[in-house]
Amino acid sequence: MTERPFRRLALIGVGLIGSSIARAARAAGLADEIVANARTETTLAKVRALELADRAEPDPARAVEGADLVILCTPVGALAEVAARIAPCLAAGTILSDVGSTKQSVIRDVEPLLPQGVHFVPAHPVAGTEFSGPEAGFAELFQGRWTILTPLAGTDETATARVERFWRAMGAMTARMEPGHHDRVLAIVSHLPHLIAFTICNTADHLEQQAKEQVLDYAASGFRDFTRIAASDPTMWRDVFLNNREALLEMLARFNEDVQAMARAVRWGDAGYIEDSIARGRRIRQALIEKKQA
Ligand code: NAP
Repeated sequence: MTERPFRRLALIGVGLIGSSIARAARAAGLADEIVANARTETTLAKVRALELADRAEPDPARAVEGADLVILCTPVGALAEVAARIAPCLAAGTILSDVGSTKQSVIRDVEPLLPQGVHFVPAHPVAGTEFSGPEAGFAELFQGRWTILTPLAGTDETATARVERFWRAMGAMTARMEPGHHDRVLAIVSHLPHLIAFTICNTADHLEQQAKEQVLDYAASGFRDFTRIAASDPTMWRDVFLNNREALLEMLARFNEDVQAMARAVRWGDAGYIEDSIARGRRIRQALIEKKQA
């Protein structure tokens, strides 16, 4: 029998992403044993019922004992506290990674707490759905999707390469990025679209409440697509916005400028500007389809 890449994989947080890793890692035979930790007994009971792990462990410190790969899968706002709890139990040589949607904040919150000899390899699978919790995960979630690694200057190359192989074995494509660059890119492709979706749903809701308009009864497809994104988990997204503040505000400022330009074109009947903007949007959609990321 060929040896598996890891002896014990510990997942701290086992919602959509953690449970998808559990399923995919098991399907690909990436660890001899999977230990899952969640905060609440409700989630641990689901982990047991769904048989997502070999052991469902309520204590994060005990969950990481003896693990050679630990992946933090909680909302990014919880990572400092989680890292403080597990750090004393991480043995030298352990690879610690995460799946957080922001990378500079995760490095800021986690890295200073780690004992010598622990290899920290921050990562972010750019894959997800609007659903959360262990029942929402599925083994194919990462297939054909990017996982971005943001190793630090001193990160052990062997550890980084092992984390890359782990993600590729689950079907992902991997790339490396500088953490600040990651946060700017994700601010425009993910964080700003979510902010807009939450906001437009709020605007429609206010309108419905104030004017008794039947906005939601007749929600056309454009609005419906926003509501799918807006169904995402409030805690996770609150944490993303607060932990990628600078990049998100920068992209929002640029977006506001473009919105104003579009408003001006509508006011002054600038058909050329409007048509050109829409055509650019279509070209972006077409490019995504060609890259198989649509
Ligand atoms: P999720 O489904 O809501 O699961 C979160 C998990 O973290 C649960 O097991 C939860 O335990 C645990 N948790 C929550 N708050 C905690 C706390 N304060 N201390 C300890 N554990 C806590 O979330 P998710 O969608 O998997 O997201 C997890 C991470 O992946 C986030 O950092 C997010 O930024 C990142 N990510 C998400 C997506 C996406 O589309 N959802 C995509 C890429 C990356 P209980 O259930 O017991 O409360």
